[in-house]
Amino acid sequence: MSSAADAAVKIVVHPVKGRCYYATRPIRISETVLQTRPFIGVPAYNGIMKEHCERVCMGCLRWLDHPVGEPIRSALGSPFHVYCSRECEARDWECYHRFEYPFFKDLFQPPASLASAYHVDYIRLLSRAMLRRLWELVDSQAGTSAPRRHGPHEDPHTSFASLENLCSNESSTEPEALAAFKKSAAILEAFLTKVVHPELESRGIPFSEFWTTPVNGTLYDKALELICKEEVNVFGLYNFKIGGIHSERQCYASAVYTTAVFFNHSCAPNVGHHYIETAEGGGLMTFFALRDIQEGEELLISYVPLSTSSGTNPRANRRAFLKHYFQFDCDCARCESEDDSAVNSNQAAAQEWRRICEAYICGIDSCRGWRAPRTPGSLEWVCVACGGVVSVGQSPAGH
Ligand SMILES: [Zn+2]
Ligand SMILES: [Zn+2]
Ligand SMILES: [Zn+2]
Repeated sequence: MSSAADAAVKIVVHPVKGRCYYATRPIRISETVLQTRPFIGVPAYNGIMKEHCERVCMGCLRWLDHPVGEPIRSALGSPFHVYCSRECEARDWECYHRFEYPFFKDLFQPPASLASAYHVDYIRLLSRAMLRRLWELVDSQAGTSAPRRHGPHEDPHTSFASLENLCSNESSTEPEALAAFKKSAAILEAFLTKVVHPELESRGIPFSEFWTTPVNGTLYDKALELICKEEVNVFGLYNFKIGGIHSERQCYASAVYTTAVFFNHSCAPNVGHHYIETAEGGGLMTFFALRDIQEGEELLISYVPLSTSSGTNPRANRRAFLKHYFQFDCDCARCESEDDSAVNSNQAAAQEWRRICEAYICGIDSCRGWRAPRTPGSLEWVCVACGGVVSVGQSPAGH
């Protein structure tokens, strides 16, 4: 997070919605409001990645765009893991892969054969989160001079406590989904018992220090709680490199950003986001203003896929999506003023939203991409899929 960006937003605790982001000062269109790295992330095996998981570096989530010759495969662990460099592989082995691979061997077989890659993805994600916690404890025991062990692309300022402090929607999760989560919780419980616990013990650290929040139930209950927290707070990383620009965005990795979760949803958001790859790796998430934002306004993003959240996407579809994936009934300003045939009673708001969509959603030659400022604050927005550019100009005054 840059300090300049910090100044634009603050977290306010709302009595019903919990923690939310608000603008501390007027924010201009295109301005970066927050930049954040994942606490933890893994390449996806689910969806289109079933056959393409070798395109993402396991160690730093870098997209391997132009593999030269044979990909750099894991030498010791899963042969289906690839890395951007041997250095990245060595670090990943030391921090994570030497623990996860012997235990989860089956989950690292060719993903196309897996019954449900969806569940495998979050099991891998959360087992890594548990290993990050292991290193937090080991490093704090060793003192401040200890090198912090985690991926180069992971946020060094977040901790396992920030993951444990997230909200979960366990009580409103559909029974079928909950039944599947329970099976996964038993697997994670075993990982804690058989891998994390002995490793801590061998270093003289009591396992009772593992959780940062009070333990009211069993280890299994805590694992299930963690899955439910992850499920409503996880972000997908998307590009258009496999299915192309005319296909729905393609999720190539999933990650938990514990500082990004305080953006609530609106079907007419004032903040957009995109991912940037840097020298540290992939997954640097940048949030930027889609229009001028007034001091005191809540900052809102859309949880509904962008390509379908344009003016033509009916309210009923959006709400069904949000209910299914995020377990809430959307009552945002746009939903309140729109009926299910997309007729909006608030003409000024509808017009404003159409104008934002024209800038944000590409649609050129049926491109499914969205645009983001070329550089922070730039009024030139570039499509992340096709590279097409538009000038957004300033928002009309008096919004
Ligand atoms: Zn890498
Ligand atoms: Zn809505
Ligand atoms: Zn485009």
